[in-house]
Amino acid sequence: MCKVVIKKVGSYDSRTVYIAVKEIMLQQRINRLVNRDTKILIKPNMLSRHAPDKAVTTNPVVVDCVITVLKEFGAKAENITLADSSGGPASRGVIQGNYNTCGFSLVAEKHNVNLYTKMSSRTLKTDGVMVKEFEVMRPAVESDLIINLAKFKTHVMTGMTGAVKNMFGVVPGLKKAEFHMRFPDKENFANMLIDLCQAVKPTFTIVDGIQAMEGDGPAGGSVRNLGLLLAGSDPYKIDMAMAYIMGFEAENLPVLKAAMDRGLVPARLEMTDITGDVQRYQRCEGYILPRSYRLDFGDHVPRALRWATPAVEKFLAPKPKINKPRCIGCGKCRSICPQKTIEIKDKKAVINLKNCIKCFCCHEMCPVKAIDIKRSSFFKI
Ligand code: SF4
Ligand code: SF4
Repeated sequence: MCKVVIKKVGSYDSRTVYIAVKEIMLQQRINRLVNRDTKILIKPNMLSRHAPDKAVTTNPVVVDCVITVLKEFGAKAENITLADSSGGPASRGVIQGNYNTCGFSLVAEKHNVNLYTKMSSRTLKTDGVMVKEFEVMRPAVESDLIINLAKFKTHVMTGMTGAVKNMFGVVPGLKKAEFHMRFPDKENFANMLIDLCQAVKPTFTIVDGIQAMEGDGPAGGSVRNLGLLLAGSDPYKIDMAMAYIMGFEAENLPVLKAAMDRGLVPARLEMTDITGDVQRYQRCEGYILPRSYRLDFGDHVPRALRWATPAVEKFLAPKPKINKPRCIGCGKCRSICPQKTIEIKDKKAVINLKNCIKCFCCHEMCPVKAIDIKRSSFFKI
């Protein structure tokens, strides 16, 4: 039975992280999967250009320690590729800049492993529910082993982003925006993410929750010193454990609800599903959830008005709102918006909400947190 490993790790001190990572990977017998010819993809979360202490991206110390351990297991540096595609354009310059700021370039240099900037893609066919064919970066189909190094974060659209959603980064650059356009509905979007995760099949996942993100993640939230690594070979169970620790009801999260409906994960984890520092498998007191995560707005609506929920939901749903004094007019939100509904006027972003599908990609990508989530005052009643 695949268990979720929970490991208490108090800081990014490299020796401490190395010991924890090695213990986890030995316990999960990753050493048996590695030899000098094994082609390995290391897939961190590199949402966009953020310094490691912002808790937006997987901390480079975790990436560094995982590569060290893989090399100790016999992997050859030339067979290891470190790759992720951020949310914006996938040009070499942009991706390289992101690797540099996130601290991954230095890790790749230290270990002499490949840092993937080419972003060429290959077609991956699948028998998915929503999608039968994905364009993914080549190492995602050409590697024997995929090590998924996700970040423990909240997410304004999907509630949280952990093991399953981290796989979305194998879709190069702005091709991700096409999926937001095709599946504006959260439920369909979640099923697409599951199709992708089932097709790519990450071998092993470690979620970096040493410094986690709470509030309006995945980029606009605040840092929470959580002191945990979560790991295992079942990304759905890992996300269930994350959801529980954050304080979510799993059935309110679109990805986990879809996974449950497909029979990929049970409705709740038992203590027998957890191993390691099991006493840390508990709700984290006061963990701040994003303001816009619920799958079913009906729960917030007075009983007498529930019949009208689908009709009024689009008016009540949270919306992106430009914080003008903060906006620096960089245009990143405009280039990522799948609906092309953002303009830059007088050096400030302006959203035409009529065409907005509330994917919050703009909120994710803004480098200065100038896109707020405006929630209806109805829900404050
Ligand atoms: S809202 Fe953010 S991403 Fe958009 S133009 Fe302003 S600063 Fe740039
Ligand atoms: S304005 Fe923002 S939330 Fe609306 S569609 Fe564009 S990127 Fe998505």
